[in-house]
Amino acid sequence: MNSLVREVTDAHRVYIDAFIAWERTLHLASCPACRSERVSKAEQRSECAEAEAEKERCRRVFQTLLDELGYVPEDRERVELPDVDAASCRPN
Ligand SMILES: [Zn+2]
Repeated sequence: MNSLVREVTDAHRVYIDAFIAWERTLHLASCPACRSERVSKAEQRSECAEAEAEKERCRRVFQTLLDELGYVPEDRERVELPDVDAASCRPN
């Protein structure tokens, strides 16, 4: 594996982590079952905004490296988003 491919897959992993963290933050802010009463609405909003900004920053890093590489690495699994079930605790 060449080093740029490794950088792309590493950046992707970082992006996935940020994406999952953002989903979780959104969930914690909006889910009646998980929402923390200790955290104010304003705080939750700013946490969501921060998590989203971080996710976007990671996405841009990943996209820039991907553009530099010029193709999507063959191991498709490594460059696709996981199925994040952020609403899994919601009653059906
Ligand atoms: Zn929940």
